[in-house]
Amino acid sequence: MGPPGAGKGTQAKVLAEKLKLTHISTGDILRQNVSKATQLGKQAIEFMNKGTLVPDELVTKMLTQRIEQPDAKKGFILDGFPRNIGQAETLDDMLKQRNMSIDMVAYLDASEPVIIQRLTGRLVCSVCGAIFHTKNMPPKKDMICDHCGNSLYQRADDQVETIKNRLQVYQKESAGAIQYYEKQKKLHRLDADLEAETVINNIIHLAAQYNDSPKV
Ligand SMILES: [Zn+2]
Repeated sequence: MGPPGAGKGTQAKVLAEKLKLTHISTGDILRQNVSKATQLGKQAIEFMNKGTLVPDELVTKMLTQRIEQPDAKKGFILDGFPRNIGQAETLDDMLKQRNMSIDMVAYLDASEPVIIQRLTGRLVCSVCGAIFHTKNMPPKKDMICDHCGNSLYQRADDQVETIKNRLQVYQKESAGAIQYYEKQKKLHRLDADLEAETVINNIIHLAAQYNDSPKV
């Protein structure tokens, strides 16, 4: 868990590779369902076209399907879920029915100035989705993707005012879920202002104590 710009996506991917677990991102699942036009994907499109958030119930259904695939049996790392207490409770119910449970929650705690610096410099490839950064990871050619040669752009919601607003929304939304995992003594706060490599090493160190039954 963690606010936008804390590095969840990047860290989850690396962590999944290192721990040989499956990386499950709710953002990816949503995009896949939409692009394959599955029944759930079609329902999601209706909300997206209206400009409203895709309801929790729909996201949870997609997640349930994803968790039932063979590659998730040995355990997985959830990225972008849960975001609120309702999702956290639903997730626990869903896992319980499958004799699974959450081992550990890593909360990536990044400060506002660092988040703003990261997100305002973020550049996204219009075709392959690769992410660059004006300062931290500049493309070889200005505004051109290193991987596919197409143009890079800045996301409309990566502007300072929008970011501040997204952070407030996140804090309000996630507070209940954070408390929920704190009570269960599963939440570990990590300083996510540090270099990505240091953060990942700290997470791996924490995860080592759950090696017997790696799940989340
Ligand atoms: Zn590209």
